[in-house]
Amino acid sequence: MKEGLQQLLKLQEVDKKLFELEEAKEKYPAEIDLRRSIIAKARSGLADLEAQSAEFEKQQRHCEREIESGKATLREREERFSVVTTNKEYDSLQLEIEICKKTLAEHETQLLKAIEGLEKIQEQIAKEQGDFEEVRGAEQERIDELEGQLGTMQEQIDEVATSRAVVAKNIADLDAQLLRTYDRRRGRRGIRVAAVHKEACGACFHRMPAQTLNEVRVGGRVISCESCGTIMVWNEQAV
Ligand SMILES: [Zn+2]
Repeated sequence: MKEGLQQLLKLQEVDKKLFELEEAKEKYPAEIDLRRSIIAKARSGLADLEAQSAEFEKQQRHCEREIESGKATLREREERFSVVTTNKEYDSLQLEIEICKKTLAEHETQLLKAIEGLEKIQEQIAKEQGDFEEVRGAEQERIDELEGQLGTMQEQIDEVATSRAVVAKNIADLDAQLLRTYDRRRGRRGIRVAAVHKEACGACFHRMPAQTLNEVRVGGRVISCESCGTIMVWNEQAV
């Protein structure tokens, strides 16, 4: 019985690895999705700013075209002064020119606003671009790592499962009933056996009475922690 209990500690080590691998296999895809969505969110923030920048550029080009044609119209009107003959024509031309100048001034104001807006947004883009690259770099690094792990996950699981079979067979040869007892335990996070440490359960740290400690040391029967149900094993190195 005592030797079998010691072997259970080895089996527990293998099962812990197996549990962690299975858990990772299940959790990594969700973590990858989460990290991808963080990148996408950062990218869309940047895209919003770029759309605003494009809108300002469009306004700028529109104003520049309007100013150019406004100036041409103004020149053409001013040249007509030399050919007006009546006061009425003169007054009418004067009025047209006033309107032309006013429109031109409005477009110049709009142009300045567009240029100012564009400068501000481009400053913001430069800053956000840096932040985005930082976020993407960090997230992508972890994604690559997780994908690499997932790529070899089944291989790793199979490898550990093979070594589990060897350890389990050793125990079955010593004490088939003990292996069945172990296999029936559910265990928190896959922990079904633990060594006693500082007079307490190595899994939940529940302190054990001296009598129980002594029984575990003797190793004549299966003793479980009265708090968490983990099978207790005496291991000199862990004491
Ligand atoms: Zn316990």
